[in-house]
Amino acid sequence: MAKEKRTSGKKFNCSVKNKCGGCQLQHLSYEEQLIEKQKQVESLLKKFCKVETIIGMENPYHYRNKVHAVFDIDKRKNIISGVYEAGSHRVVPVENCLLEDQRADAIINSIRGLLRSFKIRTFDEDTGYGLFRHVLIRTGFKSGEIMVVLVLASPIFPSKNNFIKALRKLHPEITTIELNVNNRKTSMVLGEKEQVLYGKGFIEDALCGKVFRISPKSFYQINPVQTEVLYNKAIELADLSGKEIILDAYCGIGTIGLIASDHVKKVIGVELNRDAVRDAINNAKRNKVSNAEFYNKDAGEFMLELEAKKQPIDVVFMDPPRAGSDERFLSALCSLKPKKVVYISCNPVTLERDLSYLVKRGYKAEKAVPVDMFPGTNHVETVVLMSRVDN
Ligand code: SAH
Repeated sequence: MAKEKRTSGKKFNCSVKNKCGGCQLQHLSYEEQLIEKQKQVESLLKKFCKVETIIGMENPYHYRNKVHAVFDIDKRKNIISGVYEAGSHRVVPVENCLLEDQRADAIINSIRGLLRSFKIRTFDEDTGYGLFRHVLIRTGFKSGEIMVVLVLASPIFPSKNNFIKALRKLHPEITTIELNVNNRKTSMVLGEKEQVLYGKGFIEDALCGKVFRISPKSFYQINPVQTEVLYNKAIELADLSGKEIILDAYCGIGTIGLIASDHVKKVIGVELNRDAVRDAINNAKRNKVSNAEFYNKDAGEFMLELEAKKQPIDVVFMDPPRAGSDERFLSALCSLKPKKVVYISCNPVTLERDLSYLVKRGYKAEKAVPVDMFPGTNHVETVVLMSRVDN
């Protein structure tokens, strides 16, 4: 049945498709998108190992649990919100995105209306005048919790309390609201300063039977349905016995390590983002996991320390950002000699580069499994199992 749905040839039919640039593959049906991604991963990785068939989604729409909108005014002075046109400061208005959680889009549409009635000016990137810059929304897929972050150019928010009251009245499903101040000329959405205006300041969501706390600045996978598929696959590939010491490198809020914690002796996690590590430590407590430790460090530096201590590690789960890992990390990994490495990657190009390094230094790729975390776009996630040759 699911197959029929996908092969129906239906394209991603979006009204701003030529301007937004978010869905690079929308000229293709979902089935064709999967074939494209399979080809891309195979062309880069088949020299190392077998590439299994990509795991796609049953329903490839409205999966994004993190939604960002930038605010501006158009030529007729109407308030608009959406995304930047590629390579410019021009805002392309987006009202209904095919990828985003529809609850988030509805809230953003209401915020545009509230800005009009409260006469709040949007921020102008070029002149630096105005107040209201962005909205960031994160939704809990299983918990239903919703966080709204209002990003303003100044901490002075006239009629703040009435604005929040009106927003909550329109959307009682919102569970927390934060004010974030970003007064710099930057492409980063969030600034340093933040203040909780309503609720607890974070949301929780469930993933693979554990509950995770997610703060505004912490990384969290954006496709919750496929994240479970990805993590289960990564843990299945590691084939854990219960006796292992594992490293969860680039661990974010500790998801992979904590989900694996029931199947191993000990989890060591490392992550650069301070807020994410704080979430990871809280998440261990929240889930009553007592065999996990998390460190706030650069993963490469941390790996060198483990190497110096000759810390035994049986399995490394590594999930670096798009830029991939670095030589410090990989060379220390090779001298620590874990039996298995499970590499989770959102960029097959840097994955290929890093695997090339590892296969020259004692590792063999056993299997690669692409998982479609980003339907509509040309991004693809891949998990690769590597094993030590001289085991
Ligand atoms: N494994 C997590 C996070 C993956 S995203 C999950 O599945 O949710 C990659 C993470 O690497 C981000 O949290 C980012 O903050 C972190 N990161 C980026 N550079 C890093 C570095 N040099 N050392 C450690 N962590 C890093």
